[in-house]
Amino acid sequence: MTLTTIEGFDRIGEENAFAVLARANALAETGKSIINLGIGQPDFPTPNHIVEAAIKALKDGHHGYTPATGIPQLRDAVANDVSQRYNTEVSADNVIIVPGGKVTMFSAILMFGEPGVDILYPDPGFPIYRSMIEFTGANPIPIPIREENAFAFSAEETLSLITDKTRLIILNSPANPCGGVTPADQIDALVKGLEAHPNVAIMSDEIYDQMTYDNEKHISLLQYPSIRDRLIVLNGWSKTYAMTGWRLGYSIWPDSLFDSIRKLAVNAWSCVNAPAQYAALAALTGPQDDVAMMMQAFDERRLKVVDALNTLPGVSCITPKGAFYAFPNIKESGWQAKPLASQLLEDAGVATIGGPDFGIHGEGYLRVSYANSLDNLLQAIERIDQFLRANPA
Ligand code: PLP
Repeated sequence: MTLTTIEGFDRIGEENAFAVLARANALAETGKSIINLGIGQPDFPTPNHIVEAAIKALKDGHHGYTPATGIPQLRDAVANDVSQRYNTEVSADNVIIVPGGKVTMFSAILMFGEPGVDILYPDPGFPIYRSMIEFTGANPIPIPIREENAFAFSAEETLSLITDKTRLIILNSPANPCGGVTPADQIDALVKGLEAHPNVAIMSDEIYDQMTYDNEKHISLLQYPSIRDRLIVLNGWSKTYAMTGWRLGYSIWPDSLFDSIRKLAVNAWSCVNAPAQYAALAALTGPQDDVAMMMQAFDERRLKVVDALNTLPGVSCITPKGAFYAFPNIKESGWQAKPLASQLLEDAGVATIGGPDFGIHGEGYLRVSYANSLDNLLQAIERIDQFLRANPA
């Protein structure tokens, strides 16, 4: 017998980075030398004191369910951390601990998406935004993220897309896949414009908030009181603390939505893995030296990778201001992005992701993750150079 699901499942998408990872691993198993610049996760291990905190939690007997919203001391630590870093006031009552950053976007889009409404999302952007919007039957309205704006949001263009059908707007800075950081003047203008649309909810994906460069400090939408009553902030431990496999995240919800997310948690995941929550507590309250060390390494690679990418034939790359991705423009090479990414993996042994995997505005670009050693990065770019010179489009 063949079972059929509701039609939303015909529309649900996925993240091609996982498919590229699987193909890269399969090729590596055949003995081929593969350098993976496709996956978006730090190449560092989780700092040792965080791992030790999880082991201690297990030994101390933290084996059962926790409250659905998370252990109180962790909710407090999150509230303190964001309140301090953004010089604002966030109450632990508005914080929920969730199993990964993705769970917040899944939940927020599920809460607002339905046929007939518009949800705005960045394009190029994290692919799950659009996939989930389509799943709910809402209209996905791309906000173009343009190289001429250094891959930052344009307040004017974003606001021009809002109509009376707009229910939710998704923002992401520092951004995946382009590494753009939206400057203060654009955020100010965006918030000012959003004040005229009080029925539009906002989800700000700030998972890369601690990954900015050149002494530029992240600006959180939490710093704008006029939109706090309809602002959902997505964040977590995956990137900052190199904890992608722990499946840990948190989000901050306005009072009016908090009971909905709490009940969704009770229905869907009960709570986050208990020892992982103790590890997250150690991450926030313990020494931050490892975070600084990782950021220093990412910064050094960022500058060297951009220099190297700019020597490739038909390629130009602006310097990303955040996260750990470069988004080189390959238009002059004559190659389309997806065939190039595929050939680079199969022939040159370098995994990257084609820009169109992040939306239609990603054509003409590749995403290069510099979460890999400098040696590997430079060797990979050398391989791309040889490939492009041997295979002009
Ligand atoms: N948001 C963005 C912009 C991301 O790039 C990612 C992961 O790549 C996530 C959210 C999801 O993070 P997590 O692995 O914690 O679910």
